[in-house]
Amino acid sequence: MPEIVVARVAGLSLMHCRGISREPRSAASLPAIVEAEAERAQRPAHVRGSGRAAIYLHPVNSTAAVLLDNRLGATARVGMEVRMEITFLGTAASEGYPNPFCACGNCDRVRSIGGASLRKRSAAVIDDELLIDLGPDLLAAAQLHGRSLAGIRYALQTHEHADHLDPSLLTARSPLCQAETGWLDYYATTGALDLAATAIGNLPAAGLHDPAVAARLRLRPITVAPCQTFAVGPYLVSGVPANHDPRLAAMLFAIRRGDRALFYGTDSGPLPEAAWEYLKREGWRFSVVVLDHTFGLGDRGTGHMNAEQVIEQMARFEAEGLLAGDARFYAHHIAHHSNPGHDELRIFAAARGYDVAYDGLTVVV
Ligand SMILES: [Zn+2]
Ligand SMILES: [Zn+2]
Ligand SMILES: [Zn+2]
Repeated sequence: MPEIVVARVAGLSLMHCRGISREPRSAASLPAIVEAEAERAQRPAHVRGSGRAAIYLHPVNSTAAVLLDNRLGATARVGMEVRMEITFLGTAASEGYPNPFCACGNCDRVRSIGGASLRKRSAAVIDDELLIDLGPDLLAAAQLHGRSLAGIRYALQTHEHADHLDPSLLTARSPLCQAETGWLDYYATTGALDLAATAIGNLPAAGLHDPAVAARLRLRPITVAPCQTFAVGPYLVSGVPANHDPRLAAMLFAIRRGDRALFYGTDSGPLPEAAWEYLKREGWRFSVVVLDHTFGLGDRGTGHMNAEQVIEQMARFEAEGLLAGDARFYAHHIAHHSNPGHDELRIFAAARGYDVAYDGLTVVV
């Protein structure tokens, strides 16, 4: 059956699905049905959007109903596939690409060609509601790529390096800055939460976990660690141990919605054995795999990877049985010193079986 787009509603992502039928049930009964199902299954009800334009996702069986102007627009029935969309908000290594302070050939060239070769520091958003990393370039990314982050309800923090965590964003999205937005469930390691609390400053000993602080920031901090699997709204997430900086616990993320899964793998060198074992034990099968490509055409690395290592990791994903039939690979976290502009890098990657992410790219998982 061909893939059908159910609806595009302002501020909401596309919903892709197979098989649609009209439902005679009244629109008014939808919230009650979703709530009752959620309670029965002991899983959170999931509503995207609100009031006149909303999509109600069944908490268990992956069906969805689209409500427009208080009328039932369409109901996608059993067999529907809810597909995640990941949008890359930044794809550079820690210094940005071009590095504004650098006069190397790569930086000079991409300054003149612009476009997809201009990379901000790494962050990504899934379905406009799940953010990966409170990165320091989020503000610029939201402006340049026309994205609102007002609907972000969940955030996963890979680690606390400054190119992935700007604690001032926790304040920016809070009532302290009069932001009109909801609560944020923020999944991060103890190290990242401590660093954010220190940066915000003048907090009680419990830091972000202090109830008054949490209320002030409209933030629910949730401490997670590598090798934990947890529910994040409609997503299932595994925190996968990275091979990055031995001074901290960096995480990669396996993210599933319905039966589609994504691996978000920066920052890391070749994955540690514990990561492979964990991914196999949890039964992951990825349709999209995003891998660290910091050192690109340069030398092999330890806490990051070059192209040769990326290709080896791709083969390992295959050999370990961790890929869905339609798996695609994307290079991410691109550094100026070891990678040419996007046009050249993409040709290099295509010849080796993978693609290259760029800022603003949306991939349907
Ligand atoms: Zn980084
Ligand atoms: Zn440079
Ligand atoms: Zn890092």
